[in-house]
Amino acid sequence: MPKGLYIHVPFCVSKCRYCDFYSVTDLSLADGYTKAVLRNISAIDENFDTIYFGGGTPSLLSAEQISQILSAVKISPNAEISMECNPNSVTGNYLGEIRNVGVNRLSFGVQSFCDMELKMLGRRHSSAEAISVINSAHAVGFENISADLMLAVSGQSKESLSQSLDVLGNLPLTHVSAYMLKVEEGTPLARDESLLAQIPDDDMMAEMYLFAAEKLEAMGFEQYEISNFARAGFECRHNLKYWHCEEYYGIGSAAHSFVNGERYCCPKNIAEFISAELQEKVHLEKGGSESEKAMLALRLTKEGIAANSLPETACQNAEVLVQKGLMKKEKDSFMLTPKGCLVSNQIIIFLGLC
Ligand code: SF4
Repeated sequence: MPKGLYIHVPFCVSKCRYCDFYSVTDLSLADGYTKAVLRNISAIDENFDTIYFGGGTPSLLSAEQISQILSAVKISPNAEISMECNPNSVTGNYLGEIRNVGVNRLSFGVQSFCDMELKMLGRRHSSAEAISVINSAHAVGFENISADLMLAVSGQSKESLSQSLDVLGNLPLTHVSAYMLKVEEGTPLARDESLLAQIPDDDMMAEMYLFAAEKLEAMGFEQYEISNFARAGFECRHNLKYWHCEEYYGIGSAAHSFVNGERYCCPKNIAEFISAELQEKVHLEKGGSESEKAMLALRLTKEGIAANSLPETACQNAEVLVQKGLMKKEKDSFMLTPKGCLVSNQIIIFLGLC
C-alpha cells in the first residue's frame, strides 16, 4: 500500500500572534534543512501516494528545493502533492514553477478576508493579497486549492465572518478548513489581555461554527470532517490517511510518524535535524488500537463509525445522541451532526471510546 509522507518546513518570516507550531525565522538554514530532508528520504524504501509539505511556511523553500525533494521521493501515479502557502510569500511565477515540479494541491493560510482580523492575528497579508494569490494559483493551472479560515478570532462578529465566507465563495476554491481560534499557552495572544477580551464567548463561538458549516454547505462545500469541507471529490487525501488511522512517514523537526504500528516524532530542534545523518526518532506510543480508530473515525462526518464496530453500550448511547440531534445514523453508521461536532470530546467519553 502506498503511504503518506509529511515534510515539515519550519520556517516563517515572522510569528503570528496565536501560533505555537514549531518554526524559526532564520531562513539561511533552508539549504542545510533541504539537504537533511533529502538524506532522510533516501533512507525510506516506500512508495507514496500523498505528500504534504506543511509548516511553518513551505512556500519559503525555492521551487528548486521543492523539486529536489520531490525528485528523491518514490511517487505513485496520481499522487496528491499538497503544499501550504502563505498568501504573500508566493508570486504567480513561483506558483507556476512549483506546479511544473509536481505540486498539484495548494493550501493557503488565509484565516480571514477581513483586514482588521488579519491584523489582530498578526498575519502579514491583506485580504486583497489573499484574493489575488488564489486567483493567480488558479490561473497558472491549480485545480485543487484549499483555504484555511479561522473562527472566533478577536473582534470577529457573525457579520464579518459572513463577509469572509461570501468572498471565499466567489473564489476558485475546492476545499476549506474552518478552525476555531485556540489560545495556546506561551503565545503572544495568550498574554494580550486586550485581544483575549475581544474573543467571542462560547455561545457565540458555537453559533459561528454552525453558521459557517451551514453556509459552506450551501456554497457546495460538503462537510467531511469536524473542521473540513470540500467540493465533491476534493477531500484532502493526505489528511484522510490520518483519520483512517493509516500509517505515514514524517520528515523534519517536529514531524510525527506512524510506522509499523508505532508513533514517534522528531525533536523540535532544527540544528540537530540538519547535522544528524538521519533524524532522531522519539518513540511516543503504540498506534492503531480499536479505540483510537473509533475516535478518529468519529471525526469523519460523512463516513462515521460503523455501528457493528461499536460495543453494544456504545451503540445504545449513540442512539440516544441521534435522538438529541448530536449524531445521525446512515447506512448503519453513526456520524456527528454539526451540533455534535461542537461537543465531540464529550461524545467520545459518553460513547466510552477512551
Ligand atoms: S500560523 Fe503559519 S505562518 Fe503564522 S507563524 Fe504559524 S506556521 Fe508561521
